[in-house]
Amino acid sequence: ELVCVTGASGFVASHLVALLLREGYRVRATVRSIKDAKKTAHLRRLPGASERLELVECDLMKEGSFDRAVLQCSGVFHTASPFFFAKGNEDPERTLVRPAVQGTTNVLASCLKAGETLKRVVLTSSVAAVSGATNVEGTIDESQWNTTSTLEKGAYLLSKTLAERAAWDFIEKNKPHWSLVVVNPVMVIGPGLNRFESKEEVNTSSGIILSMIDGSMPQIPSGGLSFVDVRDVALGHLRAYERKEAEGRYLLSESTETYETVADRLKKQFPQHRVVTKKPSRKTPVTVVKNEKSVRELGISYIPLDVSLRDTAQQLIDDGLVK
Ligand code: NDP
Repeated sequence: ELVCVTGASGFVASHLVALLLREGYRVRATVRSIKDAKKTAHLRRLPGASERLELVECDLMKEGSFDRAVLQCSGVFHTASPFFFAKGNEDPERTLVRPAVQGTTNVLASCLKAGETLKRVVLTSSVAAVSGATNVEGTIDESQWNTTSTLEKGAYLLSKTLAERAAWDFIEKNKPHWSLVVVNPVMVIGPGLNRFESKEEVNTSSGIILSMIDGSMPQIPSGGLSFVDVRDVALGHLRAYERKEAEGRYLLSESTETYETVADRLKKQFPQHRVVTKKPSRKTPVTVVKNEKSVRELGISYIPLDVSLRDTAQQLIDDGLVK
C-alpha cells in the first residue's frame, strides 16, 4: 500500500515515515530539496527505506507540484507547514500564512487528481486552530475554533487556523470520493530522529525544553501548556488514516501542566544541569485540552509526560547542546 507524506524531513513527519515503514507501507515522501543531506539522511537510513521509501521534491507554493507525489496513493498525510514564531521584521502573511494555506489547497487539489486509489487525506493541523487561549480558565475540545489570533498577535496560530478552515472548505466545495481527517496536536516534544548539530537546528517545540535546561531562561514563565509525545503524534496520524470510522478532528494531548511543574520534573531528572528555578512572577490558569475523543476513537494510550520530557532533554544533552 502506497502513501504520501508531505514535509517528510520534519520533526513529526520523520517519525510518521518511520512508523509507516515499520508497518509495511510504501512511502512517497516529499521534501523541499532532495540534495539537502541534512534533511534527508535520517530518512534514508530508516529500516525499510532502501526498499520502500521514495523521496520527491515538491514546492508548497506551486500549483500542481504535488500531482506526481500523490498519484496512485491510498493515503496522503499533509504535515508540511511553516512552524516558527514570527520575528518583528518579518512579513508573516508571506512566510507563515501563505505557505500554510496555499500549501494545503495545493496538496488537496493534487489529491483530486490522484485517482481512485485514494481513500483518505490526513491533515496535520494544531490545537492552535481550535483555540488561541492557553492561559485562561476552562477546557478546549474539538468543537471549538480559534477566533482570536491575528497576523499581529499569533500569526503562526492564525496560519494553522486558516489552513484547516481552507481544507474543510475545499472538501465542502469539491466533495471528493476520499475523506479528510484532521489531527490537532498540542505542543509536541520527544526525541527527534535527526541529530541536532547546533541550537539553530532544534525544532521550535524542543527549543522550549532546551531553554529550560541550558541556563538560558532567566525565570519560569507563568501559566503552562499541554504536551504530547512525537511518537504518539505519529501514531495518531496512522490511526486517523487506518480507522475507517475516524472522522472530523482529533486533539492529541497527553496532559496539561504549568511551566513550573515541567521545570520541577526536569530538575528531578537532570539535577546536574542548569534547569530554570526562579519561580514565575504570578500564578496564571492553564487551559486544559481534552483528549477523550482521541483516546476513545483512535485508541491512543499516551506516553507519560515524564518519559517525553526525559527523552527530549536526554537527546539535547547527548547532542552536546546543554553545557
Ligand atoms: P518542523 O519544522 O520540523 O517540520 C515542518 C515541515 O514543514 C518540514 O518538513 C519543513 O521543511 C516543511 N515546511 C515548512 N515550511 C515550508 C515551506 N514554506 N515550504 C515547504 N515546506 C515547508 O515542525 P514539526 O514537525 O513540529 O511540524 C509538523 C507539522 O505539525 C506542522 O504542520 C505543524 O504546524 C504541526 N504542529 C506541530 C506542533 C509542534 O509542537 N511541533 C504542534 C501542533 C502542530 P524543511 O525541513 O525543509 O524546513
